[in-house]
Amino acid sequence: MKLYILNLGKMQLDESALVAGIHGGSLRNQNPVAQWVDIPVQAALVDYGDGYLLYDTGCNIRERFVPDDEDTPSPFHGSEDGLIEPQLAALGVRPDDVKYVVMSHLHCDHAGYLYLFKNAQVITADKEFSQSMRLFGLRGFGPGPYKYADFDAFLQAGLDWRLIPEGQVEYEIVPGVKAVNFGTGHTFSLTGLYVELPRSGNFLFTADALYRSENLGPPIRIPGLIYDSISYVKSAELIAGYAAKTKATIIFGHDKRQFATLDTAPDYYD
Ligand SMILES: [Zn+2]
Repeated sequence: MKLYILNLGKMQLDESALVAGIHGGSLRNQNPVAQWVDIPVQAALVDYGDGYLLYDTGCNIRERFVPDDEDTPSPFHGSEDGLIEPQLAALGVRPDDVKYVVMSHLHCDHAGYLYLFKNAQVITADKEFSQSMRLFGLRGFGPGPYKYADFDAFLQAGLDWRLIPEGQVEYEIVPGVKAVNFGTGHTFSLTGLYVELPRSGNFLFTADALYRSENLGPPIRIPGLIYDSISYVKSAELIAGYAAKTKATIIFGHDKRQFATLDTAPDYYD
């Protein structure tokens, strides 16, 4: 088994979206200045011997982001050759070779290229799929990170969805690889990926259930961009317990400092 971490470009946003109140005021500093920071966009590919499993698919640079929209709270910066297809091609993998795609959630920086994986079982939480599809159907998306164009593309592609029921934590995919249902928090429901590797040890990918190490603490610190803050804390506690039980290294969703320490493709963990 080989685990590749893919570098799919970067986004920028106000740091308080990642950790609420990180630049809070004080008597001494009554008008703190917002900090505009870079965050990595990442995915993971597992070569499990009989096929490939992908965790998240990155931003769709061509159709979803308007480069000159100066009011966007989170611009994406990436080159064409840094997107998911060329990254996979460099490893000798075509989208049709991927048998499973585990989607952490359906925000545009994770689901932008999901429509390419027509041969795959697409695994995510039932609640994330159902609630975001409901918003899509009602034309109810606001200016947030779900994009109509992504959902249109999911439907046109006729994807093979496999939905994890609410309350079911583990979903075994192949031996040593599980989707882990972290529940509600950042969005309607977040799904992680757990991978057991004999040499490198176990990994637990959290995506945006924990943006950065500061969110886990202790103490747990909620992000500014959040769907349900009370459930977020429960979800973070579940992750902490799961990682402790499995002795897994936690890979945060958008942690620039941690990302700089990781081996990215073509290097791999095994
Ligand atoms: Zn994200």
